[in-house]
Amino acid sequence: MRDWIRNVRLSILTIAEGMYVTLWYMLQTFRRKTFTQHYEYPEKPVPVKPRYRGFHRFDLTTCIGCDKCARACPVDCIYIDITGFKIDYTKCMFCALCVDPCPVDCIFMGSTFDQSTYSRDGCIVDFAALPIETAWGQASLNPTAIAASKLQVGPVWEKKPEPPKPAAEKPAEAAKPAPAAAAPASAPAAPAAADKPEDKKE
Ligand code: SF4
Ligand code: SF4
Repeated sequence: MRDWIRNVRLSILTIAEGMYVTLWYMLQTFRRKTFTQHYEYPEKPVPVKPRYRGFHRFDLTTCIGCDKCARACPVDCIYIDITGFKIDYTKCMFCALCVDPCPVDCIFMGSTFDQSTYSRDGCIVDFAALPIETAWGQASLNPTAIAASKLQVGPVWEKKPEPPKPAAEKPAEAAKPAPAAAAPASAPAAPAAADKPEDKKE
């Protein structure tokens, strides 16, 4: 009987302890602010670490269109042509390999989320269509311009294959193997016809 009472008491204490933990976390959930209340995005940008790799920052006024960033991109998601400078964020993996080759330092990994979308449409961002303050990451939000920059929904440029390297100069035509040695000028003459036995008879 004593054991039975001890087990019942232990069960009640265990349940009470578990419920206390559950209720405590439930109260914390009601107390703390939601994510959007805490960061107030988009009104205030979310603070990120200095080396965070977000959507690119790009300065069209400095870009010289040298194509080095596109060639460095391992997934070919930068489309540069006469109509714009587009990055396909359905393919971009935010590796930052396009940043270092730029000779004029006009492309960097940014820290804003303004180019985000809720669907795959509009993931190609034309930075040439954005106001420079937005493309360069200084203006946090410009929804109209960003929407206009996403009108392009299909790849407009495909990376061309590298031109074939000029074939190395063919070494001077290898000396052709000397023609088979001419037959010796004086081939051993056919042995003189043996004197016919009849001749010897004369
Ligand atoms: S971050 Fe990487 S994947 Fe994205 S555009 Fe630059 S090189 Fe390409
Ligand atoms: S490497 Fe720099 S300058 Fe060249 S096309 Fe890319 S962003 Fe423009």
